Amino acid sequence: MARDLLISFDLDYTLMKNPFRQYVFPELQQLLGAHPPFQEKCIRARLKEEHAERLSEGRLASAYHWDEMLEKVTGKLGIPCPVSIQELVQKHAAIGKVWLFSDVLPALEKLKGMNIPMVVASNGFERYQRPVTDCLGITSYFQGYYTPERLSFAKPQPEFFHFRGDRKLIHVGDRLDHDILGANSADAVSVWIYRELPFSWRQIPVWQRKDHPQLVQLLQKKLHQEGSPLQLLDQVIPRYILSSLDEIVWVLQIERGER
Ligand SMILES: [Mg+2]
Repeated sequence: MARDLLISFDLDYTLMKNPFRQYVFPELQQLLGAHPPFQEKCIRARLKEEHAERLSEGRLASAYHWDEMLEKVTGKLGIPCPVSIQELVQKHAAIGKVWLFSDVLPALEKLKGMNIPMVVASNGFERYQRPVTDCLGITSYFQGYYTPERLSFAKPQPEFFHFRGDRKLIHVGDRLDHDILGANSADAVSVWIYRELPFSWRQIPVWQRKDHPQLVQLLQKKLHQEGSPLQLLDQVIPRYILSSLDEIVWVLQIERGER
């Protein structure tokens, strides 16, 4: 008998766009910018340094704890922080500031109709993601939220994907260095959504795109954009490449042995 199947979705740039870059960090800078250290180097840059340091030390899950990092950065400088990032996300998780890709709702609706269980698998803590998915009306599609504060691991660590249990996991994400690397190393079915896929590739069936003669160049370009080492190339070859989320139905049909 076929194993039970589970689909996990990354959130940022796979399903939606969060308010961090456009609203949360700029407001934080406005609130802290009167202090000279934040005129010399903005809060976002300081937080990114702290984030990078934690990643380089292998503390992946804590590298996404933005409020703890904010407290550390402001505390070191002796500057009180008047607001939390969680509060700012709640404030800016509003229609017009956050949005869904247009292919998302039809695809989630279709999968729901097929009774496929779906979960969120994001490196963003639930406290920062949930206000956004609530605002966008997609929270109810998911049976669970798997995030680093809950699992103590983050993508691409293979342990992050242990939430699958003994189910066959199909993981969909936009980042090669997080989603595809992690899914491949956890022996899950990796599905890369790349909405900028060149037009000529879109004529090819989703299951044949990874055999395209230009695959290496495409992956190298994306790794470069992500700031990831090109040595990862062999480990980030996706099982499937989608240009639009509606193509996920093909993946399901194949993985359920219906094609
Ligand atoms: Mg993403």
